[in-house]
Amino acid sequence: MDDISPAATAQAWLDRLEAALAARDIPAALELFGPECFWRDMVAFTWNIRTFEGREAIGRMLAATLGRVAPSRWRVSGMAGEADGAVEALVEFETALGRGRGHLRLRDGKGWTLLTTLRELKGHEEKRGRTRENGVEHGIARGRRTWLERRQEEERELGTSRQPYCVVVGGGQGGLALAARLRRLGVPTIVLERNARAGDNWRRRYKSLCLHDPVWYDHMPYIPFPDHWPVFSPKDQIADWLEMYARIMEIDLWTSSTCRSARFDEATHAWEVEVEREGRMHVLRPRHLVLATGMSGMPVMPDFPGMAEFRGTQHHSSAHGSGEAWAGRRCVVVGSNNSAHDICADLWEHGAEVTMVQRSATTVVRSETLMAYSWSHLWSEDALERGITTEVGDILAASMPHRLVPRRAIPLHERIRAHDAEFYARLEKAGFMLENGEDGSGISAKYARRGSGYYIDVGASELVIDGRIALRSHVEVERIAPHGVVLSDGSELPADLIVYATGYGSMNGWAAKLVSQEVADRVGKCWGLGSATAKDPGPWEGELRNMWKPTRQEGLWFMGGNLAQARFFSLVLALQIKARHAGIDTPVHAPQEVHHLA
Ligand SMILES: Cc1cc2nc3c(=O)[nH]c(=O)nc-3n(C[C@H](O)[C@H](O)[C@H](O)COP(=O)(O)OP(=O)(O)OC[C@H]3O[C@@H](n4cnc5c(N)ncnc54)[C@H](O)[C@@H]3O)c2cc1C
Repeated sequence: MDDISPAATAQAWLDRLEAALAARDIPAALELFGPECFWRDMVAFTWNIRTFEGREAIGRMLAATLGRVAPSRWRVSGMAGEADGAVEALVEFETALGRGRGHLRLRDGKGWTLLTTLRELKGHEEKRGRTRENGVEHGIARGRRTWLERRQEEERELGTSRQPYCVVVGGGQGGLALAARLRRLGVPTIVLERNARAGDNWRRRYKSLCLHDPVWYDHMPYIPFPDHWPVFSPKDQIADWLEMYARIMEIDLWTSSTCRSARFDEATHAWEVEVEREGRMHVLRPRHLVLATGMSGMPVMPDFPGMAEFRGTQHHSSAHGSGEAWAGRRCVVVGSNNSAHDICADLWEHGAEVTMVQRSATTVVRSETLMAYSWSHLWSEDALERGITTEVGDILAASMPHRLVPRRAIPLHERIRAHDAEFYARLEKAGFMLENGEDGSGISAKYARRGSGYYIDVGASELVIDGRIALRSHVEVERIAPHGVVLSDGSELPADLIVYATGYGSMNGWAAKLVSQEVADRVGKCWGLGSATAKDPGPWEGELRNMWKPTRQEGLWFMGGNLAQARFFSLVLALQIKARHAGIDTPVHAPQEVHHLA
């Protein structure tokens, strides 16, 4: 056994899996898996995004899907090795309809984790490389049209004389990444963006904002950032990149176009989407409607008594532009996560007198430490040198089932805590309430569970430690007085400005706003895993609710998340829409169950 390479071990296991699946012998296939096992499927088998935990669940999935999926040609495609007692390898496979990539981990020779993701549909492959367009018709002919003329005609027609198959509401990174994929797949799509320019959503955020994630993690599909691009992109640079991206990828982006409402017609199976474009109303009739309106798009504004009587300025963090106007003024920021820290630091840099009100404990990790202990493994120059390209990194990141993430993250965060023990001690001494996730699993688990509750420290913690940002913790806001914030200990913080860095609501709030409350309730809460931790009630889902996969409303989809998720899941969602466009039967296995309304 010892002298067999990891690649050969993985291939031998795949050969046995292939034989069992080809024979439709599900018990034999299940025999190959260990007592603890996970099969995470993205569209390839299920036309859904689902993780099946344990042999029984895998068996049920196979019983429902195997006949039509007809998987074959399982092979190791690279990165074979051994880590943490498991043999692992990248995998490729085919189904009756498409080609997929995935990842396998074996423990004691038995299947532990298997990822299967559909990457292309047979007969509907994206044109690339040798199959690219010629671009020019050689020869001289009267009436020959240029690329520009054809493109302009297409722009004029789509949405007027010709209906798009898909409308995407929101031209942020999520909407644009999806639209780029759909264009490459030949699905007529219009992206609606209420702002005047693509990228404005980033431009309008507070001036000091830079991405918290490093560049290697942030590439958009097809066009990676050039190799001089900064590690942490300033928000205006990202905005310009997105604007360029929309143009170069020939996305049919309607700017200054606000989706006012959408209604699904059960008789025609099409949406009626009302759009206000530069002051004029249009109706679009697509079959599919994607809400790419942002996870950080529905501000949650608290409702403290006395807010209406406040004599100063108060706004949600999403409306905070810059600290420039607040030099020498008293500012209170309610909240203690990323936005709260960034805004406090920005206000302090502009000479304001700032107080942060911390209502509950926050996970803090220094960006530098996160880079060294976590990011660099998959997303860094070192990773690239080890052969972990963006695509490989995406597959490796997806290969770990959500159930196992905390098990790996807890020791990682223990090491981080030990490395920065002195920093954490100083922060706690300043009164800052720290926590590391209810089970100690830290930031990435929290991101999947609730998308909030943490600060990636890029410097503001030192301001809290030395008091340049004043901190009031272990208190609640009781009410807002005409000239300040009254806390639960009876004290009052005088304020000229109050910023509520109180987070954002579930994306199905967008369905309520644009479609109807009934549809929002039918679809249920978006995001979260059902981990039974704060803001992520059970039961366990194993995958993010409603994101990038079929919802309980025909033709309604949600696209959102960080730049890496926009890149990876745009393909997962685009293939689902393309399959429907191509008339392929797409029976959804184990559709989303709805346990929570928001
Ligand atoms: C302060 C802050 C810092 C962040 N830092 C990072 C980071 O470092 N890295 C990272 O990856 N993510 C970060 N995020 C998360 C960030 O929100 C997302 O990465 C990104 O904005 C999500 O892109 P999106 O396309 O899903 O949504 P958005 O960027 O929110 O785009 C949604 C778009 O929909 C448009 N829209 C909404 N309603 C309508 C309508 N009715 N009609 C037409 N258009 C409409 C909006 O104008 C907007 O442009 C941060 C978020 C915030 C708030």
